[in-house]
Amino acid sequence: MERQPFSKCSHISELLKTAEELFRSSSSSPRLDAEVLLAHLLLISRSSLIAALRDECSTEVVAAFALLAARRVQGEPVPYITGEREFYGRAFLVNPAVLVPRPESELIIDQALKICSGKQSVKFLDLGTGSGCLAITLVAELLASGLREPHCVAVDISQEALNVAARNAERLGALQYISFVKSNWFSESAAFSAPYDLIIANPPYIDRYEKTPIELSFEPQGALFSDDLGLKDTKEIISGALTMLAPNGTLLCEVGAGKREHLRTYFKTKHPALEYSFLGDDSEHDRFTVVKVVRK
Ligand code: GLN
Repeated sequence: MERQPFSKCSHISELLKTAEELFRSSSSSPRLDAEVLLAHLLLISRSSLIAALRDECSTEVVAAFALLAARRVQGEPVPYITGEREFYGRAFLVNPAVLVPRPESELIIDQALKICSGKQSVKFLDLGTGSGCLAITLVAELLASGLREPHCVAVDISQEALNVAARNAERLGALQYISFVKSNWFSESAAFSAPYDLIIANPPYIDRYEKTPIELSFEPQGALFSDDLGLKDTKEIISGALTMLAPNGTLLCEVGAGKREHLRTYFKTKHPALEYSFLGDDSEHDRFTVVKVVRK
């Protein structure tokens, strides 16, 4: 690679093209990454950036963009460079203390909204809240659907993550509906005030021995990897949730793809009477599914 790949760039279009080329080997979305980073630097939207492709840019902009691009080339996820990521149509602040919100987790929100539809009140628990994207989105969507008082307890083992989640809740108008509790899953459950209508969780579920992309090394490892083929935390959550759910209450928990057979065996041996189903991509080609458990 040329030492200063951007030195000959003088227009926005050239910066984007050069960055796209650079990112090709380390990113699955090189053009998008280039646009998001440059729009962030110029403090404009991506659509304004596209409208300004022929504009010239200053040498300061070129130099600053080269620094951001160098971070991306090393594998750093774009949201850690820009400090935010969109989830379910809202912008969430992120930093390396929290997992970058993933689009697949929006399935939990869609399902949760179905479960809550028509209810007068909803009390839910979000385990491993991270940036708060699930808890805050669900609160905001429930409010938007006309529910007056959603109650949420959002739990994380990391105080730094809880700080990020609280800032997001404040920015997105959800703070008054959420209590944040520092807990290692259920270790502080005395402070949770069960029972719950709904429990949602996106726990770590990647098998420690799986080969993963470089980007994941920038994220909190405890939020990604789990023992027991990636199922240790999921199993802990399922058995703990059963003691916290109200009758007819539901647990929605994201799990890794290819884990259905293992979970079926787990349910058969540990909770044979339990009603459960898997949601999402049936072919399991994607990296995830959502297991839905209803307490009778
Ligand atoms: N879906 C994420 C990934 O595969 C993992 C998220 C998680 O472990 N909760 O990158």
